[in-house]
Amino acid sequence: MADYIYTMEIRLTPDQLKGVNLVQEVARAAGITLYLTGGAIRDIISGFTIRDLDFTVQGNPLKLQKDFERAGAQLAGHDDDVRTLFLVLPGNVRAEVGMAHTETYEKVGKPPTIAPASIQEDLRRRDFTVNAMALSLNEGSRGLLLDPFNGVADIEAKVLRILHNYSFVEDPSRLIRATRFAARFHWPLEERTQQRFDSARENKYIDHISKGSIGHEIAQLAHEDDPLSVVRALEKEEFLKVLHPHWTVAKVDTNGLTQLMKTRQQIVDLGYTVDPSAAVMHFLTAHLPEKDIADIRKQIPRKDLIEAWRDIEDHAKELAKRLMGKEAATPSRTWNLLSSARPEMVLFLAVTARHQSVAQKIKNFFTKWRDVQKRIPLPEMTELLITPQLPEYPKIARDVFMLLLDGKLRSRTETLKFLKPFAPPPPPPPPPPRRGRGPKAAAVAAPIPEAPGKPAKGKGKKAAPVAAPAPAASVPAPAKKTKPEASRKPDTKAKPAKAAGKTAKSAKPAAKAAAARHSTRKPAAKKSTTKKAKKR
Ligand code: ATP
Repeated sequence: MADYIYTMEIRLTPDQLKGVNLVQEVARAAGITLYLTGGAIRDIISGFTIRDLDFTVQGNPLKLQKDFERAGAQLAGHDDDVRTLFLVLPGNVRAEVGMAHTETYEKVGKPPTIAPASIQEDLRRRDFTVNAMALSLNEGSRGLLLDPFNGVADIEAKVLRILHNYSFVEDPSRLIRATRFAARFHWPLEERTQQRFDSARENKYIDHISKGSIGHEIAQLAHEDDPLSVVRALEKEEFLKVLHPHWTVAKVDTNGLTQLMKTRQQIVDLGYTVDPSAAVMHFLTAHLPEKDIADIRKQIPRKDLIEAWRDIEDHAKELAKRLMGKEAATPSRTWNLLSSARPEMVLFLAVTARHQSVAQKIKNFFTKWRDVQKRIPLPEMTELLITPQLPEYPKIARDVFMLLLDGKLRSRTETLKFLKPFAPPPPPPPPPPRRGRGPKAAAVAAPIPEAPGKPAKGKGKKAAPVAAPAPAASVPAPAKKTKPEASRKPDTKAKPAKAAGKTAKSAKPAAKAAAARHSTRKPAAKKSTTKKAKKR
């Protein structure tokens, strides 16, 4: 039997997994039954990117809003009709927590009657078999997959199948969803589903789509990995104009969008987490008049997306201004500025920057300057015992990187000259083994000390490095926000070689401090060996 919890744990990103645990904890504390549902399950099983987390609870999740916020979630919106909370979980994880419910459609084009229900009933009102599964996150049944429509089999067969013949009639937004999923996964509609789709399309059922569904489907476009192919597919089916009457592929900045998605991939490959949704919306609507854009924004249920989209240009302009100012006067300063900026903003500016200097700085940040990290002399640092075990290691590694970036350490010799003063003294020789009880006997057994400067052999070597992780790791890590280092004043006036010498001098006190720390450690080591010897 498949172990879906295991599959979930290896497929989710660490932040998504933490998000699942957070929601699970809140639901457990409230005594409410919780399932992971919909697209998240589909993507976990099929291997596609898991874009967001859809949870369904048997009960009213709106009551849990405060509990979620206390646990670290941010509210991005809510839908009172279907009792759904839109959340942003720590690590920028998008999540929805909805109430398990039934939808009864009395008349075509009229909204359904919603009633609380069990998870089994809830799965019956879903759009496609591959989306009609639920994974229990409850004690006692955790890991149990509810799959009443054989969604797993359809994932394996790579087809989209509706649950019943009236699916598109009841909710015409499923026509848009079918088009979107088919374009995204390249999965065809199953034969009968295709027939129902064609007939619903010909009969223009789409005209009965609800306003809420339009907003939801617009927002979904922002999270597509290939939004251009999806909007093209929607236009082909004449559904793009349903989302907004003036929206066509011609209104999309296709070059900008293509460039955005390409750059995004490059940034992701470097290890950053970047949410391009606001930028995607910007390019998707680039040639629409402001009024139409305002209309589209009004429909979207998630206020975090609306705000990010609305502010993206201003924020990018601000960043561009800073990149042209003193704050980015040197490569190291620019590095610090871009490291502390939101990756979303850097991504957007990478594609939209008008000034050559801004574009070049961003380009260097993602390419050339990263190669500088390779010039940090790791083996020599290890030999000098400058290793991650040293408390000051992150700062030393970072300083070397910054000086290399600014061309202030021009050769390996200069780099080593800079580093040497930071080398801690070699660890003390291993304590003498004691034979018998008296101090005399111990003195007799004392080994010949190692030649000064050589690392001690044997167990006493513990403090010496194993393999030093790349100091580059101490350089601002992707996706993590680091403090801007604008206040740092690199010695820009000094000549490179001299600057290195200077820094080396000023580093001496640090080395002394390290030596002092070592010497204070000595007695402790002695003490513990004495104790051991006594025991023996
Ligand atoms: P995506 O990867 O685009 O987020 P998704 O399947 O998660 O895909 P959502 O719009 O987030 O899409 O919806 C979550 C789940 O809610 C779906 O998987 C589906 O089970 C259900 N759902 C959403 N919209 C409809 C609809 N119009 N009719 C029936 N079920 C729907």
